[in-house]
Amino acid sequence: MVYQAAANRYDAMKYNRVGRSGLKLPEISLGLWHNFGHDGKVETMRAMCHRAFDLGITHFDLANNYGPPPGSAEEFFGTMVAGDFKPYRDELIISSKAGYLMWPGPYGEWGSRKYLIASLEQSLKRMKLDYVDIFYSHRFDPETPLEETIGALDAIVRQGKALYVGISSYSSAQTAEAAAIARRLGTPIVIHQPRYSMLDRWTEKDRLLDTLETEGMGCIMFSPLEQGVLSDRYLNGIPGDSRVRHSQSLRESALSAQNLERVNGLNDIARARGQTLAQMALSWVMRDGRMTSALIGASKVSQIEDAVASRDKPTFTADELAAIDRLAID
Ligand code: NDP
Repeated sequence: MVYQAAANRYDAMKYNRVGRSGLKLPEISLGLWHNFGHDGKVETMRAMCHRAFDLGITHFDLANNYGPPPGSAEEFFGTMVAGDFKPYRDELIISSKAGYLMWPGPYGEWGSRKYLIASLEQSLKRMKLDYVDIFYSHRFDPETPLEETIGALDAIVRQGKALYVGISSYSSAQTAEAAAIARRLGTPIVIHQPRYSMLDRWTEKDRLLDTLETEGMGCIMFSPLEQGVLSDRYLNGIPGDSRVRHSQSLRESALSAQNLERVNGLNDIARARGQTLAQMALSWVMRDGRMTSALIGASKVSQIEDAVASRDKPTFTADELAAIDRLAID
């Protein structure tokens, strides 16, 4: 059946400005790290993309290595871009990244100009795109001069292969240095993609949001649900279709008795607020007005619907925040 986007897709979603740039992103964005490779069912993958877009999720986040196998999530999204989403290309923000291992040899990972430019070229071919909307340096490279990595991002924008550039998992100090180089080159870094959730609060200790505010950058945080741990999914054991069963990224050790006790406590707070735990986890990461978007993953349409409904109850009382702080320890 030919996909036709819902006419009311922009009615409910909120779009936040990315730092001091002209770009806006939806409060909830969808990432294709898991469940969109060769291990996924194409019909489910398509249904998730359709439902996301119908709910106002205009931003789809990819990287060269998403799959499995690496590259297959971009290949799948390429079929969406050339097919169902073809009429909507200008309504979409598609991102990709390079930084992690993608091909053998000394040029297949990290932050050299050689790797970043070659990798984006491959991503564009896989996704059947002329340009991505955002291209990220996926991780800080301690060996390559930062001028080279950021210089490659600048070149990529000047070549028209990305409209905006970002960095992911850079510390506050690395971010400030990268931003200064980018400013000198004339291509500002508009966005940072760090990991952040109730169970991973490194960005608070590093005062990353303060740095991003100073630099005029937005923040889209990944794994806000701690890969599903911050939901009711594991309260009664590990379901057979969980990523624990088919991926190395979420280990059973993350579901220790101590962690599950905290998750149970957080679940009680969420229920008292009239939210699912996943919804509260998303409202919580977005509680600071400087956050641009929460970047979720999903294996089913209902998870995307659950996430978008978190917008119905965005604010917290001081008592709720204090109760969460007692349990939300990383
Ligand atoms: P989440 O923390 O949102 O975890 C998503 C997983 O949680 C889903 O796949 C599902 O698990 C479970 N889940 C989601 N919603 C619900 C719900 N409502 N109820 C119960 N369980 C739920 O994010 P991810 O870890 O998937 O990361 C999101 C995106 O962030 C990635 O796709 C990627 O784009 C980006 N990312 C970026 C990184 C970087 O280095 N820049 C690193 C990692 C991710 P299940 O699949 O088991 O059903």
